[in-house]
Amino acid sequence: MNVLLIGSGGREHALAWKISASPVLDRLYCAPGNPGIAKEAECVDLNVSDHGAVVDFCAQREIGLVVVGPEAPLVAGIADALQEAGIPVFGPTAAAAQLEGSKGFTKDLCAHYNIPTGAYMRFNNAPKAKAYAREMGAPIVIKADGLAAGKGVTVAQTMPEAFAAIDDCFEGAFGDAGAEVIVEEFLKGEEASFFCICDGANALPLTTAQDHKPVGDGDTGPNTGGMGAYSPAPVMTDALVEETMERIIKPTLDGMADRGTPFTGVLYAGLMITESGPQLIEYNVRFGDPECQVLMMRLKDDILMLMKAAADELLWTMSARWVDEAALCVVMATNGYPGPYKKGSKISNLEAASALHDVEIFHAGTALDGEDLVANGGRVLGVTALGSTVKAAHDQAYMAVDLIGWDDGFCRRDIGWRAIEREK
Ligand code: AMP
Repeated sequence: MNVLLIGSGGREHALAWKISASPVLDRLYCAPGNPGIAKEAECVDLNVSDHGAVVDFCAQREIGLVVVGPEAPLVAGIADALQEAGIPVFGPTAAAAQLEGSKGFTKDLCAHYNIPTGAYMRFNNAPKAKAYAREMGAPIVIKADGLAAGKGVTVAQTMPEAFAAIDDCFEGAFGDAGAEVIVEEFLKGEEASFFCICDGANALPLTTAQDHKPVGDGDTGPNTGGMGAYSPAPVMTDALVEETMERIIKPTLDGMADRGTPFTGVLYAGLMITESGPQLIEYNVRFGDPECQVLMMRLKDDILMLMKAAADELLWTMSARWVDEAALCVVMATNGYPGPYKKGSKISNLEAASALHDVEIFHAGTALDGEDLVANGGRVLGVTALGSTVKAAHDQAYMAVDLIGWDDGFCRRDIGWRAIEREK
């Protein structure tokens, strides 16, 4: 089978690495890819916003499956265009991608199907949103409805903070994404990420993983796209997985099918494990990055077969098995991230670092400057390792990090700390 993978991050490098190990793969193409992905796939210069061009490419290269990594092309309807052209695709239609594209849509679905989530109201003007926030009291959560690159959520500890967040949204801080605002109950507990592969009717739960969003050690500082991740995540016990499947994932899939918009692809639930059980914070319609990197390191089975089975509505025939070892990913980012940062600093010694036992270095924002590998984004490398415990995986990943030469880069030094505390 020939496969086209869409995306250019660490998530897509991890997917490319795993897909390229599949015995059923003939050729792997990636649009646009990056220098790391180029070792696994032929990177192609294809404008993925031009759905006609993507369909033509797939017809010419006899693509048997398109795998869409990021959310933006899904929300823009790339899966619809491919399906209409009869090209199998792993990823939801635009209507099903609303689970990520509109937080209000997801909250309404939860309300309709009795899926546990925080109390909320949707607003299209500031005075009413503020009145509801005042009634609920702080802490309170303010969310822009649409895609805001992970920046549209404020957990406000005080009313002035909540009011400022509401004003920011309506004054255009997130563009169209903030034209509608959700004011939501603050949920207390420990967060967990939960991933399933879905084929419209069935969901196959994947193993557990946890990321670290804040930029600084001890989970301090502003939120980022993710500074590291580990798997398994001990917070998600087997009982919690079962409860999440029954009370959250299955009613969501049934609800989406009932609406005539069945969900195919990766459903990633952001959960808060509260005293009254798991509650849904949000859905994403694709793998998390860096979580995808640790999941791919631990997956024993063929990811390509799993994704093809999902696209063909045959997921019930499949299972997913995982190595017993833990995996841990440390993200290396450019100094300044998530604020402004410079591009073009040189990175060296990756070969020595990736030669360490059970270490893979996944590229995100990298580029080639002649022969040199240089930083070309905020999050640049995902240094990922296996180990007999989360602590062992942590030690191996940091041994690799410390071999990499990059003057303008940094990373957190405490990835996995919660799980390592529990292991003690
Ligand atoms: P989201 O983009 O919806 O995942 O929100 C980003 C972060 O905000 C989450 O990872 C949580 O840490 C926090 N958050 C969102 N909604 C809530 C909530 N209802 N209660 C507490 N924290 C929340």
